[in-house]
Amino acid sequence: MKTLESKSIILLHHHLKALRLPTIGAECEKVAARCAVDNHDHLTYLLEVTELELLERERKAAERRLKAARFPVLKSLESFDFTARPSVNRALVAELGRCEYLDKRENVLFVGNPGTGKTHLAISLAAAACSKGYRVRFYRVTELATLLIEARDERALLGLKGRLAKLDLLVLDEFGYVPASKTGAELLFDVVSTAYERTSLMVTTNLPFDHWTEVLGSERLTGATLDRLTHRCHIIETKGESYRLKDAKARVRKPTVSAGASVPPQESAGATEPMEGGEGTS
Ligand code: ADP
Ligand code: MG
Repeated sequence: MKTLESKSIILLHHHLKALRLPTIGAECEKVAARCAVDNHDHLTYLLEVTELELLERERKAAERRLKAARFPVLKSLESFDFTARPSVNRALVAELGRCEYLDKRENVLFVGNPGTGKTHLAISLAAAACSKGYRVRFYRVTELATLLIEARDERALLGLKGRLAKLDLLVLDEFGYVPASKTGAELLFDVVSTAYERTSLMVTTNLPFDHWTEVLGSERLTGATLDRLTHRCHIIETKGESYRLKDAKARVRKPTVSAGASVPPQESAGATEPMEGGEGTS
């Protein structure tokens, strides 16, 4: 009897492997023992093990999407201190976290000085999109411009553009740090233009719109790029001074303040703007 049982278990594992159901393979005996104790019928057992398989598949797929997005580092909305950045519309960020903008092919633009949390917010929202099943890819603008130029030189541009076209969300980080070459600007415009109403774009920039010509070179190209990008677009401004700088200043200031006078959240929030250039001389 015992050998018959172990024979059928070996066979069962073989079938589950052939059917590519590894989680059921790993869990079936444990769940069977529990179902026997709890007096659950066969269908309940089947429901339980198939559910486990599905959940594990979804988890792995989300992990793959997260890896494929190539974020330079992972960030989450939970670790973003909204009180330190009161200009950021928290309700809008929460709404974007639900990802409906992706179904409507809307864009998101983060504008603000360096160190004000643009990339943090962009990665957090884009990672939320990955876990909800959307295909995402993160690029620094200069990296994408270089890739586009190289691809064009190797006649691989169609392949690269094909891969971009399959995305639900294309994140373009740091628009404006380095001016694009004429070819780079044209190829970037082409990406923005192709994405228009097909793929959502999420762009972070330190440049106000009236300075975009400095990066893209021509006014005509800048106008056309902005026109497509800002049509159906959520704009989030991260005003104030760099979070890193503020953090460093707070650390420098701390030993000089009396015990128990550490900066409460509402005070640090209110201090974000007036602090610029005004404090931190210690
Ligand atoms: P930006 O892209 O605007 O230059 P980053 O998003 O790279 O700025 O932010 C710089 C660093 O400060 C990052 O490590 C980021 O996680 C952190 N940071 C910025 N703003 C906040 C915030 N409001 N709460 C928590 N961490 C923040
Ligand atoms: Mg950044």
